[in-house]
Amino acid sequence: MNSRQLLQNIADDENEIVNAFCDMLRIKAVGPENGGPGEAERGEFLRSLATRLGFDDIELHESEDSRVPSGRRPNIVIRIKGTTDVDLWVVTHMDVVPEGDLDAWTNPPFEPKVANGRVYARGAEDNGQGLIASMFGLAALVKAGITPECNACLAFVSDEEYGNTHGIDVLLKKGLFKNEDLIVVPDHGYPDGASMAVVEKSVAWIRVVVIGRQTHGSTPDCGINAFEVSARYLAECMDRLRAKFSKSDDLFDPPQSTFVPSKCESNGFNINTVPGRQEFACDFRVLPEYDLDEIMSEMRAVADEHEEASGAKIELSFIDKSVSAGGTPPDAEVVVRLKRAIMLSGGFEPKPVGIGGATFANPFRRAGLNAVVWSTIPGTGHNADEYAEISGLMFDTKVFALMFAGKNIDDR
Ligand SMILES: [Zn+2]
Repeated sequence: MNSRQLLQNIADDENEIVNAFCDMLRIKAVGPENGGPGEAERGEFLRSLATRLGFDDIELHESEDSRVPSGRRPNIVIRIKGTTDVDLWVVTHMDVVPEGDLDAWTNPPFEPKVANGRVYARGAEDNGQGLIASMFGLAALVKAGITPECNACLAFVSDEEYGNTHGIDVLLKKGLFKNEDLIVVPDHGYPDGASMAVVEKSVAWIRVVVIGRQTHGSTPDCGINAFEVSARYLAECMDRLRAKFSKSDDLFDPPQSTFVPSKCESNGFNINTVPGRQEFACDFRVLPEYDLDEIMSEMRAVADEHEEASGAKIELSFIDKSVSAGGTPPDAEVVVRLKRAIMLSGGFEPKPVGIGGATFANPFRRAGLNAVVWSTIPGTGHNADEYAEISGLMFDTKVFALMFAGKNIDDR
């Protein structure tokens, strides 16, 4: 069989692929931090789908978690032996972020809707498309009786949207990945699929707690308004960080570091009370040359000034701190293999870029493995009305099929 026939076979399976995609997205796989049931049911679905698609080497690596009804967070690994000894992985995550403001959605987020060549659902883009594309791409080889060139490995993991403890970390700790393994992470991308991410920014999630003094709303001078101190502190802090850490690097998209105040906790006070406590969190993505502790020091310096001026106390802490692990060289084998597959199915060569991260390419790079991040997605992840383009899903499926086939398929 030549590559053209394989691509045609995949195109002919479009309905089956889209149906499986929708069936998976219907199963809500939100983590327990956001009140969800975890990934157990979605994992069950994927294991039975894998069996149906003809995979027989299916591993289940569970992590105990008493916060979810099943008590377990699943991690699934599917393998097909290749004709060489190198392991080529596509790693995706099963969990999704919560729907956010339900009123902002046109359709219910967990009732996938196919319209205008798109599939609308929470998790369609992040990371459903990559997962289904990797699975059906490899399944196309099984169906056609083609042996992959490298050992083809798929990993569907839990807990990516919150910390990876019950997900990729479990597989890393178990030693499933070797230094010479090749890793593709389709968890970020561009609508034209023309860029592949080889380096990520450092990421800091920072919690800010402002402690003031509660009092009656009619006598604000008797208290310290933690909400108002928060607002003033936040505004100045963001201005100062953006001014001080202002370098830009055109390899990255966006080229500058980003400083985003994101989550504001309810302070729980009523309208006629001066709130005595306010908590919020920030999401920072900074160029690898910047030190996260230096950023924290600047936040602390601004906090000291606001404490002094207001009498409130401002506590700062890292919720998450992920230092950029450097980049994957543009001539690394995994980059070359993926590029070839993209060239063969799309007729263009993607260019290397840096992104805000943090995908789990970063822990792989830190462990010394070469990882590349690529997919063809519209950029709707975490938004209301998240969707995936069916054309993107199909293109990625074809690229993964050709990447796994490698030299074991005729280029014509
Ligand atoms: Zn993701």
